[in-house]
Formats: sequence, structure tokens, C-alpha cells
Amino acid sequence: MHNVREHTVHTEATLARLGSGVQAFARTVADFVLPPQCPVCRSIINEQGHLCPECWMTLDLVELPVCDRLGIPFALPAKPGTVSAGAEAAPPVFARARCAVLYNEPARQLVHGLKYRDRSDYALPMARMMFRAGHELLDGADIIMPVPLHARRLWSRRFNQSLQLAAHLSRFADVPLMYDGLSRTRATPQQVGLSDTQRKRKVANAFSVSARHVPVIRGHRVVLIDDVLTTGATANAASRALLRAGANNVDVLVFAQVAEILQAAI
Ligand SMILES: [Zn+2]
Repeated sequence: MHNVREHTVHTEATLARLGSGVQAFARTVADFVLPPQCPVCRSIINEQGHLCPECWMTLDLVELPVCDRLGIPFALPAKPGTVSAGAEAAPPVFARARCAVLYNEPARQLVHGLKYRDRSDYALPMARMMFRAGHELLDGADIIMPVPLHARRLWSRRFNQSLQLAAHLSRFADVPLMYDGLSRTRATPQQVGLSDTQRKRKVANAFSVSARHVPVIRGHRVVLIDDVLTTGATANAASRALLRAGANNVDVLVFAQVAEILQAAI
């Protein structure tokens, strides 16, 4: 079996490349001069890379018990390993998903800030919350991999927000990061306004694993990292490509999931 670590990039080096030039430099300098600030509201906090208690409280943190397949919280007590009726009826391609928070307005602000407004300083607190929510996935993982953007979209957005989260998580969990294991075979159109079926069809074969990565992925446990889990179509398509390449297991760890709390366990 191939040694994953030999084939993956050094996390710190990847992180260093992620900064957006002058802006990142300015923030680094500011970190030495100014006291740590909450990246959302700018209030003074004790330690860099966290949210202040007020901003933290506005998030809808996901607590146990959750559906073992989808990671959606149950309203009532449930045994570990309980699977929701929705996951039973339509099992995902991935083994398990976990999310730090449910997608509410403050979560949307964090996700959009990281994705569209160059707020790379959001990535650290978001990744910390994901690490807490995803420890059971990360414990047995061999490879951490971000869900990639298509090259054209990457160019317009300048960096992949999932890679930023994945790089932090790789460091926290001491699991090698493979940043280019998956590639988008074609650009998927903006998904707003598409029906579930249309969206699924668009992303079904949107990912591929390059031949040179197959020997590294084969027989290993992969944790896919993304910012948001919506219908699961993207996560399923990416998982399918990895399983076809011989991955032993694919789990998905996201910051936020668009879901309602499940009222009944079964
Ligand atoms: Zn705050």
C-alpha cells in the first residue's frame, strides 16, 4: 500500500500559499500589533482564531445525537448509530456526514465571507468548530481532501474555501492533506433555481480522480471537506468518484448543513 504522507503536500506550505497577497500580509502584521479580534464583529477576544461569545451564541451548533449517516441532529434522545428515516429511504453514497452547525443567517455570513469576500480569517474558527464536530471521522482517516472548485470558478474566486478549511483540519487532526486528489471534469452551473433532479444530474459525473492519485487513494479512508452540505448531490458525486478509485471509505465533514432538526429518530 502506498504511503499517503509521501504523496501529499506539506500542510504549512499549502497554508502559506493560500493567503491573498498584500491583504494577508497586512493581517499578519496587524495580528502582532492589535489585540485578537472576533473576525465577525471585531470585538476584542482572548485568543486569535475564535469567535466572540456573542457571535458564537448566534450559531446553531449541532449537538449529539445525530443521524449516523447524515449528521442531522435528532430532537429526541437516540442511541449512537441511529439512522434517520430519510437516510434509510435514500442512503447517501458517502458513509457518514458531520457538520458543525445548521445553516442559519450567521452561518451564511461566515460561509459567504469566506467564499466571496476573501475573509480567509473566518477559516480558522470555522475549522475549529468542524474539528470538534468531526472527531470520529478524523480519528480513523488516512487522507483529508477538499471538494474542488472548477478551475474557471477557482480563478474568479481566487482560492478554494474548502481547501482553506481542509488545510486547517489536516493540521489539527494530523492527517495528510491531498489538495488535488479530485478534479471537476466540467463546470457545474450555479445551482440556484434548479430542481433537485436537475441538480443531481448536473453534478452526477462532475468529479474525477487522476490516474496518478489512484494508487494513493486505493484502500484508504478519505474525509471530504466542504463548507456547506445542501442536498448532498455534490458530496455524493465526489464520494462516488473516490469509491470508484478504490477508496476504502468516504466520510464528509462540512461547516454547515442545510437541514431541519429531525423530530423522530425512526
Ligand atoms: Zn463577534
